[in-house]
Amino acid sequence: MDAGLKQIFDDVLRRNPGEAEFHQAVREVFDSLGPVLAKHPRYVDAGVLERLCEPERQIIFRVPWVDDAGAVHINRGFRVEFNSALGPFKGGLRFHPSVYLGTVKFLGFEQVFKNSLTGMPLGGAKGGSDFDPRGRTDAEVMRFCQSFMTELYRHIGEYTDVPAGDIGVGGREIGYLFGQYKRITNRYESGVLTGKGISWGGSLVRTEATGYGTVLFAERMLATRGRSFDGARVAVSGSGNVAVHAITKAQSLGAQVVAFSDSSGFVVDPSGVDVELLRRIKEVDRGRVADYADARPDARFVSDGRIWDVPVDVALPCATQNELTGADAARLVANGVVAVAEGANMPTTPDAVAAFAAAGVLFAPGKAANAGGVATSALEMQQNASRDAWTFDYTEERLAAIMAAIHDRCLDTAEEYGAPGSYVLGANIAGFTKVADAMIA
Ligand code: GLU
Repeated sequence: MDAGLKQIFDDVLRRNPGEAEFHQAVREVFDSLGPVLAKHPRYVDAGVLERLCEPERQIIFRVPWVDDAGAVHINRGFRVEFNSALGPFKGGLRFHPSVYLGTVKFLGFEQVFKNSLTGMPLGGAKGGSDFDPRGRTDAEVMRFCQSFMTELYRHIGEYTDVPAGDIGVGGREIGYLFGQYKRITNRYESGVLTGKGISWGGSLVRTEATGYGTVLFAERMLATRGRSFDGARVAVSGSGNVAVHAITKAQSLGAQVVAFSDSSGFVVDPSGVDVELLRRIKEVDRGRVADYADARPDARFVSDGRIWDVPVDVALPCATQNELTGADAARLVANGVVAVAEGANMPTTPDAVAAFAAAGVLFAPGKAANAGGVATSALEMQQNASRDAWTFDYTEERLAAIMAAIHDRCLDTAEEYGAPGSYVLGANIAGFTKVADAMIA
């Protein structure tokens, strides 16, 4: 980082104490921007970097709700509206006990660049709560979501801010949130949330889009080395929405996905994941990955190891931030990994990213590789605005074209700025320049 950037970064640290993930996300972008600032001093002169690091608006609110036994609980709700230069604020909601302002700010900051990269007219935002949905009944989750929306509704709108899902927020939660928004406002404003059910304004492919898109991106990246998923061994961390659809897509392209995980451990299934069984356990029974190993004679559950110890050609971290460390990267490299694509947001630690770069491993950062989710949210917004509903095949074609365009934009930008093959530099610079130009304009 050059001296000018370092000074701005130090200011970010000072103004946002204790928000380690936010600092990490900002540093990662700043580390890529040297060449673009040297070439275009207008970005420095206009103070774009200082402006980019300060969210336009940060909302923190109380979320009171009553459990099934009648006890009152208080959670904290967040919405950080980061940047609206390119379009209405857009980004998911995360419900997880670890959520605090720093989580939401790191995710919102990433979202600004990701949404810019999609080429769609989307600003960046993120929100969520420290609410833990695990072990809660549907009725409890519904009352929590209704209370959350009772505050959030006044800040969002189809031309203002359009939330969606993230960890802990899927179709069920979006349903409860949309129902409450509709009831409070007396408006059937489909475009206010994305990830809706298919019968009430949702888009086909939205559920699959993040996982599918990550694999489509990795497929194009592998092709630059004359490789493909056909016959490749793959590890996918996580077992939520992103992971399940990444597994499905990779296997449909001929890969053998041999490992997946949750927060309690990982499963190795040497003959390839039975994705229908995994979906039944996770989505219907809301069970744990250990239950999968119990149901499959060849599979084994490991509670005290690292999923990244499993030798694979392609690694797809699809669980959560900082889940793939420098030590994990060293082991993947030693075992001959060819490509890594992030389905989750910032799952790879900075030393792991550096280790992959040093070893010449293809590495796709999440803001490029997992942008298919939010891009398909933009397709959902298009369908809502035109009161239309597209077919699965047409929507998937659009997603594939968007992922190919993001991939090529990253590579072309990396080449233009003297770092051929660096998807990290390409994604950060391409994402940045579009937002920065809009802010200056
Ligand atoms: N939470 C997703 C992401 O990280 C999707 C956001 C959206 O669709 O708005 O990009």
